Amino acid sequence: MSAPPRFRLSEIIAGQARATAALERALATGRLFPSLVFHGAPGTGKLATALALARALLCGADPRPCDACRTCRRLREDGLVHPDLFVAFPETRKQFLEGAEAAPGVSGIDAQERQAETQANAAWSILIDRVREAIAFVQRRPVEGARSVLILDQAHRMDAPAANALLKVLEEPPPHAVIVLTAASVHALLPTIRSRCQAVPFRPAPRDAITAFLVERHGMAPEEAVLRAGLASGRVGAALSLDLDTYRERREAVLALLEELLRRGDPGVAVTRAEGLAKGATLEPDLDVLISLVRDLTLIEAAGGAGSGDPRRPGPRLVHLDLAARLGELAPRLGERGPAAIDRIERVLESIRHRGNRQLLVEDLLLELVPQGPPAPA
Ligand SMILES: [Zn+2]
Repeated sequence: MSAPPRFRLSEIIAGQARATAALERALATGRLFPSLVFHGAPGTGKLATALALARALLCGADPRPCDACRTCRRLREDGLVHPDLFVAFPETRKQFLEGAEAAPGVSGIDAQERQAETQANAAWSILIDRVREAIAFVQRRPVEGARSVLILDQAHRMDAPAANALLKVLEEPPPHAVIVLTAASVHALLPTIRSRCQAVPFRPAPRDAITAFLVERHGMAPEEAVLRAGLASGRVGAALSLDLDTYRERREAVLALLEELLRRGDPGVAVTRAEGLAKGATLEPDLDVLISLVRDLTLIEAAGGAGSGDPRRPGPRLVHLDLAARLGELAPRLGERGPAAIDRIERVLESIRHRGNRQLLVEDLLLELVPQGPPAPA
């Protein structure tokens, strides 16, 4: 008798060691629960893991998934064309009718692209007609191998009739089928659905794990990987999808403003710039950039300041590693006001989200950044 196959989910998925190790153990011992719910914030890798699990179940190599065989190639995230996988996403009735013959698992869709589209359209839902198709898929014998996999992405967006239709098959799935639901929170699912599935939590990934993943799996330069990971708030998806050119452009404008304020120490400049910033359509993202720059300045200052030596000394923890020299020069001008400034920007962002007076809020904020005392040479 041959040894049981090994599984390599944790190699493929970044920063979800607990979830992937639990799934690998269950696969290796043949005790995978037939109905699972992957829950956690968007971008933590739930869909990528569900698809990797499908490849692990359908691939015949060792270790699996091999990500090279014909089966794995037809279960790639950017082109799902395998007859024993069915993925249901939120959609409109019109989309369902137009694509009725092409079931989502076998129509060559790009899974992450499709998911991004559905997340941008909050009114779409997983339709009962699609769930009926999914149930028929689960009950049918697999076409190629011994298993079939159904994924319901953002299952909390099923309406009640769809969820109720799914209950019976979740209760007693046929032995060949594995059903994975993904959801932002288990509590967003009906209790009857929740109680029939094994919950697998997905947490924000550690920053270093995302950085390593971007360098090793996506061949990114370390500085770019550090920046993407630092801005992603633990979400691998966000790290990957960030438009870096646009971000760098925005960052340059915000940094120029910060340099101007901290160097010139001129309240008049703060008032003028606040007006421009508050009137712009990108105030929130601009403030997000500002907060991450001020965080780096605070780290540099806490590490002894640029005057005491190499501004790159705290480098590994900086998000804007590519700007270390420039930030090192600027950090002493902010001095010990960093933590208070971060706190202040956070409160301003909160107020803006609750529709405060944008200009007054931003003006007060920028005025607070102006140093007391004489201006520094530019
Ligand atoms: Zn394979």
